[in-house]
Amino acid sequence: MPDFKDQAIKDEILEKLNLKNRYSFLNNNLMSALTTEEFNFLRKVQKFCLRYEKKNNIRHTPDEDIYSWMPDFAKAGFLTRAHKFDDIDVNFDYHGLTCEMMRAFAVDMFDTQFNMGMGATTLAINPIEAHHDDIPERLNALKDLVVEGIPGAILITEPERGSDAVHQLTTCTPQEDGSFILNGEKIYNTNAPKSKWVVAYATAEKNSGSQMAQFLINTSWDGFECKRAGIPWVPKLWLGHEYLNDLRIPPEYVLGGVGKGRDHLFEGLVPERIGIAVINAAQAWGALSHAFLYINMRKQFNQEILKFQGVGFTFADYWALTTNFTLALLKFCEEYDAKLEKFGGEIPRNISQALVASASHLKLQGASLSERCCYEMANLMGGAGVCDNTLMQDLVGISRIQEIVGGTRQIQQYILSMATRQLWKMV
Ligand SMILES: Cc1cc2nc3c(=O)[nH]c(=O)nc-3n(C[C@H](O)[C@H](O)[C@H](O)COP(=O)(O)OP(=O)(O)OC[C@H]3O[C@@H](n4cnc5c(N)ncnc54)[C@H](O)[C@@H]3O)c2cc1C
Repeated sequence: MPDFKDQAIKDEILEKLNLKNRYSFLNNNLMSALTTEEFNFLRKVQKFCLRYEKKNNIRHTPDEDIYSWMPDFAKAGFLTRAHKFDDIDVNFDYHGLTCEMMRAFAVDMFDTQFNMGMGATTLAINPIEAHHDDIPERLNALKDLVVEGIPGAILITEPERGSDAVHQLTTCTPQEDGSFILNGEKIYNTNAPKSKWVVAYATAEKNSGSQMAQFLINTSWDGFECKRAGIPWVPKLWLGHEYLNDLRIPPEYVLGGVGKGRDHLFEGLVPERIGIAVINAAQAWGALSHAFLYINMRKQFNQEILKFQGVGFTFADYWALTTNFTLALLKFCEEYDAKLEKFGGEIPRNISQALVASASHLKLQGASLSERCCYEMANLMGGAGVCDNTLMQDLVGISRIQEIVGGTRQIQQYILSMATRQLWKMV
């Protein structure tokens, strides 16, 4: 349990809100929907988190450095399971989107900001995994991220180009020796001030999507400067504001040359949006599990507050929404993994494009679910839901930013309205 200014919740209730009981609520809900392999892996990560919290006396207080935990989770194989990583001799037999979903559910309930930091590292891992071409420098970076658990970041957003990510202002100028010189600014990049490796996009011609390229950058190189951008709703995460001044990228670190950047950006979008939908579902379970335990114990008017319709029915609504959303997500992840296997690790372009709309459906509703559910569960807990005694404060905070990250709510709606037109043309 976290340290706090003063204890507002009585011992008996506070003790019951522990991680073990919250996991128990989740597991009882998911048991019948998961395969044995999925459920066993979920339990395995949960056991690791329970032991880790106890052994290291983690209190989830504001002074704790979530980044210091990442190497331990990486060594245990729980930082990312997005791929097998046989190219760097890791060989996760059980991996993929569904496995990632189980990992994220367990880690998010342990610490939601920590899990988001891990997710942002995975966003840097994915393009290196896809485009390392067996080049040793890239494989070494991949090992740092996956095996050593050194945080990574993805640099898409710029101060003047947020939603409009394909009309970038950061330039990359090709040199005769195959290297590039980068100039420009990036902002709001999760983990960047703590990262050794980042993956960045730039363009050979300002505002031209077709001229975009993708680079792997070591943050210690001359010409890379990073300051911290503060986001008070996620105070433990470090976001970057980067200044690229004549930053030289050697040829070995060019993941996608001029003309390939936009495709590389788009190929990462489906897993990124599903990854956000997964953490959204996990946040909702985190909030529900706190409220479930609390409303069964807290008494007012001489009765458990669950028994009042205003409380019990509100809980029931969000419980149903979260369960249904989780089942939809699970179906998507299982199908995605099956397709990857069927097509030898790469989903054909036409199918992948069809998944874009599904990913937007899930991201749009997941972010909204997290935002509403975390707030409503805090509301059901009254003062206890908004004081600093429990992790509810972290959940309410992180839920506020979900409709902004990874493509805003309005951008998902825009994508879906465009897709509606495409569907109309197919009638
Ligand atoms: C906590 C956090 C973590 C982040 N992590 C990363 C990261 O790791 N890497 C990274 O590169 N970026 C990251 N971002 C940046 C994030 O992706 C952008 O903030 C987001 O894409 C929106 O861009 P913007 O902030 O410039 O807002 P803008 O694009 O300026 O949008 C402002 C408003 O206008 C609306 N809008 C814009 N265009 C349209 C349109 N065509 N139709 C309808 N409405 C529109 C938006 O929906 C929004 O409401 C992060 C942001 C936050 C807050």
